[in-house]
Amino acid sequence: MISSEKPEFTVKLWCRKSQKAHSISIRTLPPYGVEIVIPANTNDNFVKKIIGQNQAYINQKLSEIKKRNIDIKPLAIFLPVTNEHIKIVYLKSTSIHTPIEVVDGTLTLNEPTGMESLIDNSKLLQVWLQKIATPVLKNILDTTAQKLNIPYNKIKVGPRKSIWGSCSYKQNINLNRNLIFLKSDLIEYVITHELCHVFEMNHSPSFWSLLNEMFPNYRKIKDQLRSNASSSIPSWAIV
Ligand SMILES: [Zn+2]
Repeated sequence: MISSEKPEFTVKLWCRKSQKAHSISIRTLPPYGVEIVIPANTNDNFVKKIIGQNQAYINQKLSEIKKRNIDIKPLAIFLPVTNEHIKIVYLKSTSIHTPIEVVDGTLTLNEPTGMESLIDNSKLLQVWLQKIATPVLKNILDTTAQKLNIPYNKIKVGPRKSIWGSCSYKQNINLNRNLIFLKSDLIEYVITHELCHVFEMNHSPSFWSLLNEMFPNYRKIKDQLRSNASSSIPSWAIV
């Protein structure tokens, strides 16, 4: 059976008493919900008051997690750099044991049935992402390195929490695999930036002037990268 309806993964608010806690704290725990941690001897009315005072914040966090959960079970993936629209089909049976790959523009996965399988779903998509991101980014790096006549040693593409790329003193270039969700001018900027570190390891004035030579008017793209690139990354890809 094939399912295409949007999933409704319930998010919850719950309280947990802790012997170690000294004050009440509110923790967001995606994909499950929001947890209120309460010191063991706290009065129930005081807890109710704190929840009431923070209701708007709690509701906002719950709806953010709910939205994110839907995004962890995507119905389509778009890769601007290859202009690929990939359809995702979820099967109700648990019969998929074949490697995850795009066949006729479609990825087939098992239907997530609960929170744990929702997390598994994003892990499976991440395995697939790792496999496809490496050749695409290597290709752009090789083309850019050749065009700019800047040598590099090795490339490594992988999961990164907060950086788009780095360059080691051995001239190895590391790239965040989520770059694949960005437009090609942003990817080229990140790659050119890292290639310039082959000659200038620090962010010195001579680094920026070299970058400006290699990537004229880089500031506009640099600002775009800082301000809205992370919103292009789907929740399932975030590690
Ligand atoms: Zn840098």
